[in-house]
This record gives sequence, C-alpha cells and structure tokens, in this order.
Amino acid sequence: MSNEIDKTFFKQLKSFAQALDWCEANHQPLSALAMAYEMHRRGVDEAAILAQTQTLIDQMRATVRAGSADASPTLSGLTGQLASKMMAAASAPCRLMSPTMLKMMAYALATLEENSRMHRIVACPTAGASGVVPGVLLALSESPDVALSDAQMQRGLLTAGLVGELVSRRMFLSGAAGGCQAEVGVATGMAAAAIVEVLGGTPRQVMDATAMAFKNLMGLVCDPVAGLVEVPCTKRNAVGVVHASAAATMALAGIESFVPLDEVVDAMVKVGQMMSPKLKESAEGGLAMTPTGQAFTQQLKAKGNVHSPESE
Ligand code: SF4
Repeated sequence: MSNEIDKTFFKQLKSFAQALDWCEANHQPLSALAMAYEMHRRGVDEAAILAQTQTLIDQMRATVRAGSADASPTLSGLTGQLASKMMAAASAPCRLMSPTMLKMMAYALATLEENSRMHRIVACPTAGASGVVPGVLLALSESPDVALSDAQMQRGLLTAGLVGELVSRRMFLSGAAGGCQAEVGVATGMAAAAIVEVLGGTPRQVMDATAMAFKNLMGLVCDPVAGLVEVPCTKRNAVGVVHASAAATMALAGIESFVPLDEVVDAMVKVGQMMSPKLKESAEGGLAMTPTGQAFTQQLKAKGNVHSPESE
C-alpha cells in the first residue's frame, strides 16, 4: 500500500486536510500515511521504520523507568522528586483520576526530570516537551484495560510524528519562536492524536482531538525560571497528558472541533508572532519574573550558575 503513493504527494502534503482526504479515500488510518511518509523521507523499507520506531519506544521506556526510580535532585535542585511522589500517588486509591492517568502524569514528570539530570530522553518534539507522548503511550501499555502492545505503540508514535511534522511545516517547534504552545502545546496535540489512533478512532477523530488539544493550549507562554527547562516545564508536561486525554476522550465520544485543525494551527502561528519576545524563552516574563522566580535566579547568579535554555 505504502509504495503506491505518488512521490509528488508528499512534496505537496502541507495540510491536515490533505492527509485526512488521503486516509478517507484509501480507508487507511493516519499511521499508515505516517509510515508511507517515513519510508519516503528516509528511503528505507517498512521493517526499518518499525525498528527505528521501536528503538525510540525502548528509550522512552528506559527513561521513564530510570526517572521513576530516581528521587535525587536535579543539578539546579528545582526538581527531582516529583516523579517518585507521583508514582507513590499512583499506587494509592485516588478519587479523582484513574491509576492509568496518574501513571501518565508520573511518566511525564519522570522524563522531564531525567532531562534535567542531563540523562538521555527522546525529544518529542523538543526536550522541554518530551514527557507528554511517552507518558500517555507507556501508561496505556501498562493499563490492564488497554494493554497496548509495542506494535500499537509504534502506530501511535508514527501518528504523533506525522502530526508534529505537519505542524512544523507551518511553525517552528520552539519556545523561542512561538512560546510554549509550540512545545508542550504541540506535544499535547501529538499525544491526543496518538491516543485516538491506538484506541481505534477514525482519522477525522484524530484531527479533532489534535485540534481540541491545540486550542486549549494556544497562547501558552514560554517563561522558564532562571532559563532552566524545569519550572514550569516539568509540571506542564504532566498536565499536558491530562489535556491530551481529555481531548482524545471528547473526540472518541463524537465531539468535533468547530474550527478545523489547519485553521487552528494557522491561528497558533499568528498568536506566536503576536507574542512578546519577553514571553518566548527569554526568561524576561511570566513565571520567570515573579518574586520567587527572580529570587531563585539571583541565587544561581551568586553561585555563577545561570543557564540559558537556547540549547533546548
Ligand atoms: S516553558 Fe519554554 S522552556 Fe519550558 S517547555 Fe515550555 S517552551 Fe520549553
């Protein structure tokens, strides 16, 4: 099937509407188009793409395992014990959220804490937003009700990747260019898409979930305290899995996005352009400029240890 797609299709593929048309005309899920696109882009066969996707899943799992078991502080001391606290909460009865949702949050926190410890993570789409997609997929793989196989996770990750790719054709995926809507915002839409795909939703439902996730995080500013990718980034990833799950649940229930996904992305681009540079990774606005944020920054400066987030 994949090899039957005309190569010019991928050059012209710029919109989610085109992707949806292809899926509906060919009665294929979005993950099938994602696979064809990856084969075309990398010039390798399906087996190679699946092997590379599995390598990413294996690394996500290793990161989450390491981060969940490690309660040591990060280099700045800002985070380091969040995932272990959330893991403890996940094994206790909770009246608000399911054990799977609690685990999603714990895994997102674990990934960001590993990032802050300078350990290996899978940027998805960036390091600062690396917890959302692994959080949802890995927790769903361990959920007794869902029990995603690795093959299903591969489909989910491919779908998330195509969503990120199509967004990146219209906007830079970085807080410095578009605010956190371009990082955790995009990651949350990618995760919502992955959830709908692996739970058997239609391509249209995948798009609706992505649109609803994006709409809820549109305008999210990038305001890291002391320029470190820790506060608010770490907890923002944990809340991102909840946003993604809510958007996916609505889409699977048949709720549609009033504004089509392509228009939502275009609106995000415009919002990012209107956003003050002080709210785009400069640590000159938002939480970075609160008294608490400033006091912490001064402490780091006194130690001669102020970090720039531009490497994210
Ligand atoms: S707040 Fe800024 S640095 Fe932190 S995750 Fe969002 S975009 Fe990245």
